[in-house]
Amino acid sequence: MYNPKSLQAEEFINHEEVLASLEYADANKDNLPLIRQILDKARCRKGLDHREASVLLACEDEEIIQEMYTLAEQIKKDFYGNRIVMFAPLYLSNYCVNGCVYCPYHRQNHHIPRKKLTQEEVRQEVIALQDMGHKRLAIEAGEDPLHNPIEYILECIQTIYSIKHKNGAIRRVNVNIAATTVENYRKLHEAGIGTYILFQETYHKQSYEKLHPTGPKHNYAYHTEAMDRAMQGGIDDVGLGVLFGLELYRYEFAALLMHAEHLEAVHGVGPHTISVPRIKHADDIEPSAFDNAISDDIFAKLCALIRICVPYTGMIISTRESQAVRERVLKLGVSQISGASRTSVGGYVEEERPTDTEQFDVSDQRTLDEVVHWLMTNGYIPSFCTACYREGRTGDRFMSLCKSGQIQNCCHPNALITLKEFLEDYASPETKKTGQALIEKELLNIPKPKIRQIAQEYIASIEHGQRDFRF
Ligand code: SAM
Repeated sequence: MYNPKSLQAEEFINHEEVLASLEYADANKDNLPLIRQILDKARCRKGLDHREASVLLACEDEEIIQEMYTLAEQIKKDFYGNRIVMFAPLYLSNYCVNGCVYCPYHRQNHHIPRKKLTQEEVRQEVIALQDMGHKRLAIEAGEDPLHNPIEYILECIQTIYSIKHKNGAIRRVNVNIAATTVENYRKLHEAGIGTYILFQETYHKQSYEKLHPTGPKHNYAYHTEAMDRAMQGGIDDVGLGVLFGLELYRYEFAALLMHAEHLEAVHGVGPHTISVPRIKHADDIEPSAFDNAISDDIFAKLCALIRICVPYTGMIISTRESQAVRERVLKLGVSQISGASRTSVGGYVEEERPTDTEQFDVSDQRTLDEVVHWLMTNGYIPSFCTACYREGRTGDRFMSLCKSGQIQNCCHPNALITLKEFLEDYASPETKKTGQALIEKELLNIPKPKIRQIAQEYIASIEHGQRDFRF
């Protein structure tokens, strides 16, 4: 039976409830009065539930879809302004005991060399990332209790935080590793991680079991209940995601929102972020083998609807997507993007992009400087901010900052300050010039005069060599 408060996967992601929601959506996809009512509710910026959301997703009326896009853009502007948070993935190890059929790291793949970074190699990778200007990482690893036990992950986190190279520093480490125990989540929390990210891959249990035929990841309930264990372990920022292409996107979308509703119902706080990866070509993996691929139009609609349905949840897009697709969805609601990513183990220290241990092909291959420049010329402020987590504004405290409308007096100046650091330390002359002009202009958009004045002072101090200010 469907119960969002249950701690059992099959009750909070209840298959019958998903099917009933899709049926309801089909029955109402042309019901314009109901659709208008749902859109009006969405305009209150309090979100929508999975049934309402499913109706909007099913609706094919072009005019209504345009309304959804306009609303998504507006909600994005209200909550996130024009800031885009930057991050990079760091692959620690591709040893893996699972059999995920879409992932090149699966155990049966004997084409790829297996590699695990030593602490010295982690150091080299982090220095390379710091030299680009990154401040926020997402660490990634396969699941292998022998090669990548929790102690190894913890040691890597400690190494990453300890490296101070020139003016560089990694100030937030998000973690994307396999589902684990409450005890291990507690250890990650104590190590000072930012968000714990785990993609559900698919919420459809039967497909999930087929796509994960062997290894610990085969256990659907253990995987689906991971976020509850993470929260029990003290981590209050968790990141959800679906790997689009594996199952029918309408099923995934309803279930993803049910997962968010479950977290809110049980823990009083929804997901911190939602990621929207799409399946990509990789060694041993041909995306056409998965017949649920979604078009760019459907992808854009999904991003817009996530923005409308969970306005306070950040949305992440990786370099799996091309520049053109990224441009489109940035407008519709994406708040965080990776830049200059290498999805191979040890890839950042190599001059040439290595492909032998790559997890998936990278579509957007630009440098971080190029991505920053592109964002600015498109009217965005690239932000290297990590302040909330360092100020203890996680979980519901972050959400209340969003809800109180104080973001423009907090996140906005923090974005400008951290962009200024990037410009001083890492930018090309052209990027620096564009950035300086942008900062001058955007300082005027800080509502409180006192905060504006302090931000101006911080920026002047950064020019004189000081670093790491925050509100
Ligand atoms: N091994 C951990 C786990 O199982 O959750 C860590 C995550 S893995 C390194 C990162 C994510 O990459 C996976 O959760 C999956 O969604 C995604 N991924 C795997 N193969 C992919 C492919 N061929 N194309 C795009 N994304 C892929």
